[in-house]
Amino acid sequence: MNYCKYIPIDVVNGEGTRCTLFVAGCEHHCKGCYNQSTWNVNAGFPFTKEMEDQIIADLNDTRIRRHGLSLSGGDPLLPANLDAVKKLCLRIRNECSPDKDIWMWTGYTKDQLTKEQQEVVDLVDVLIDGKFEQSLKSANLLFRGSSNQVIYRFNRSLSWWKNKENDNK
Ligand code: SF4
Repeated sequence: MNYCKYIPIDVVNGEGTRCTLFVAGCEHHCKGCYNQSTWNVNAGFPFTKEMEDQIIADLNDTRIRRHGLSLSGGDPLLPANLDAVKKLCLRIRNECSPDKDIWMWTGYTKDQLTKEQQEVVDLVDVLIDGKFEQSLKSANLLFRGSSNQVIYRFNRSLSWWKNKENDNK
């Protein structure tokens, strides 16, 4: 996977203070997309183990408290990105405290997800789904560009940790 931008301290993309990763690659090509430079899977820089380690370290940095990671793009659920995004999400679940939440923006709607995409979504707390529709654009929407997009709050970290506790019993 490639990524286009990493913001270690971000107060715009999601609630609280966050780390935000903009991955490369999107097949939706929405009319009016603000991030067209992220459409090509080869845009930006290789997402290396060092970059992964940096994100984990930033989330665990007690000097500046981050509430979690925001994954945007591009599309984190582009099939070519799934393995890398899943690995990163699993590392956050395993190596960061349970109060770190994961937000994800995707151009797929929740009901379009494949089994493989759903497995990644199972690791996130908040999903904002759907393509950007220019005719439904509104500046009043929080964390969304157009009103067709839906914000799902799964509270996944809590259920994930509960399952992990049960697994360990
Ligand atoms: S899904 Fe997002 S990144 Fe992809 S084209 Fe649409 S608005 Fe742009």
